[in-house]
Amino acid sequence: MEEERMEVFLEMFREEPPVYIRELERRAREDGVPVIRRGTRDVLRYLLRTKKPEQILEVGTAVGYSALFMKEYMPPGARLTTIEKVEMRLREARKNLSEYDKEGRICLIEGDAADVLHRLAEKKSKFNFIFMDAAKGQYLSFLLDVVELLAENGTLVSDNILHEGDVLQSRYAVTRRDRTIHGRMREYLEVLAHHERLETICLPVGDGITISTKR
Ligand code: SAM
Repeated sequence: MEEERMEVFLEMFREEPPVYIRELERRAREDGVPVIRRGTRDVLRYLLRTKKPEQILEVGTAVGYSALFMKEYMPPGARLTTIEKVEMRLREARKNLSEYDKEGRICLIEGDAADVLHRLAEKKSKFNFIFMDAAKGQYLSFLLDVVELLAENGTLVSDNILHEGDVLQSRYAVTRRDRTIHGRMREYLEVLAHHERLETICLPVGDGITISTKR
């Protein structure tokens, strides 16, 4: 109840995104596409406006909702690259990007993030801002390349670290599949917390996020 009252109160200070973004969000939720929550959206907007990253990378496009949201707040001249592997999502993402990114500031890379991240790291590409929002069980396996891809002082935001609060649950209270995902997520958080190149904070925003800065 307290939490609900707090949400309603904070809602008064929330900046609404453009109408087409709200429409995309409504459609995504209607179609059962998992997209970022409002709290995560606010943090992304704040970081993009204050840190002004020139090169942005997103892992997990889905239908392009968060990529288009970030485009609205990234500095002029910045570019966003986003990775997705599922054809059903890609079809929708291509459509949304061609409709709402006429300037071509978003580059959609189609393929498995494990391969794409590795290829980008081999090419020595660098990003000032990375948003990790793909399969929760894979974050840890992406991390080596992600840290390599992150520029000095760059920001890494990882979403859904609490997995609907289930990560906190006793391992016996969740299904075997979720137990594996949660185990991996806990491991990911442990690694982030002790990583020598990353300074990390975990926040109970949206479905739980971490913000890390590369030292
Ligand atoms: N960032 C999106 C938004 O808020 O609009 C939501 C992303 S959704 C939570 C996660 C997406 O990551 C799904 O569309 C899924 O198909 C994609 N995905 C999962 N594992 C992937 C992988 N290994 N490579 C590429 N995409 C992946």
